[in-house]
Amino acid sequence: AKEAGRARMTLYDPSMDADREQRNALELDLRMAIESGDLTLAYQPLIDAASYAPTGVEALVRWNRPGHGPISPEVFIPIAETSGLIESLGLFVLRKACETAKQWPELNVSVNVSPGQFRNPAFADYVRYVLKQTEVEAGRITLEITEGYMIQNPQRTRQSIERLKALGVKVALDDFGSGFSSIGYLRQFGFDRIKIDRSLVMGVNEDKRQREMLQATVALARSLDIPVTAEGIETEEQAIAMRLFGCDCLQGYLFGKPMTADLITEMLDARHAA
Ligand code: C2E
Ligand code: CA
Ligand code: CA
Ligand code: CA
Repeated sequence: AKEAGRARMTLYDPSMDADREQRNALELDLRMAIESGDLTLAYQPLIDAASYAPTGVEALVRWNRPGHGPISPEVFIPIAETSGLIESLGLFVLRKACETAKQWPELNVSVNVSPGQFRNPAFADYVRYVLKQTEVEAGRITLEITEGYMIQNPQRTRQSIERLKALGVKVALDDFGSGFSSIGYLRQFGFDRIKIDRSLVMGVNEDKRQREMLQATVALARSLDIPVTAEGIETEEQAIAMRLFGCDCLQGYLFGKPMTADLITEMLDARHAA
């Protein structure tokens, strides 16, 4: 079977050329979008589980590709990662989110950080630079990182997190429960927050097994005395259950989809007026 596989790979496959061509075109368009500032940010509310008041927003990058329409970040972030574009994309996102954060003094602003950015030993330096440039209070910025990189490079991850925390920013572990999380690992990193992955939250009203899995995952996070956010909340039942399990913060379509900065401002104004 191995031989056959090798033979097949050397055969000419026109569809592979087409794929590569499409990918190259996408990469070129993405490069241009980053250079000309055509990426935008959407902001999704983060809600206090007890009061249902908004406590923050998560910045999510958006790309409306000319001639193609919106492309999901799940598609273009991995491409940015492998084509050396992630640093400039990440810098754009961080700067834009920090600038925008100034409009909402009462909100925390979360920014996603890719492994490709985090890997750079100078990452903390450019975070410090952006904080200084935008004059945003470091304590209002949370950087969300996923566990993939962390597991490969625990030593360097710990150092990077320490340097970031020394700047005053918060660091959250994103997508917890979706991969290889182990409690042994978690304790040593000093995360300020853990976010339970949507794939787990979705199972809360499914079978007993899934519900128990979810409950155990939240309990694991909580046993470290780290506050826990539940992401992907779409129903009232999910919100109630996650709050019962001990999540202090909720995020999901039930409370608001990712929206423009102007809509976030309107939402805050409406609350103040009420
Ligand atoms: P994530 O960091 O886990 O972000 C949450 C994703 O779940 C977002 O998708 C959000 O729109 C979606 N979501 C939130 N609530 C719900 C819900 O109730 N139901 C459902 N079905 N979905 C919900 P989005 O914006 O498409 O982003 C996907 C992923 O792309 C993010 O997952 C993150 O890993 C990555 N990403 C997005 N923006 C950035 C960025 O600026 N930088 C980096 N490095 N990655 C980003
Ligand atoms: Ca995130
Ligand atoms: Ca997440
Ligand atoms: Ca995710």
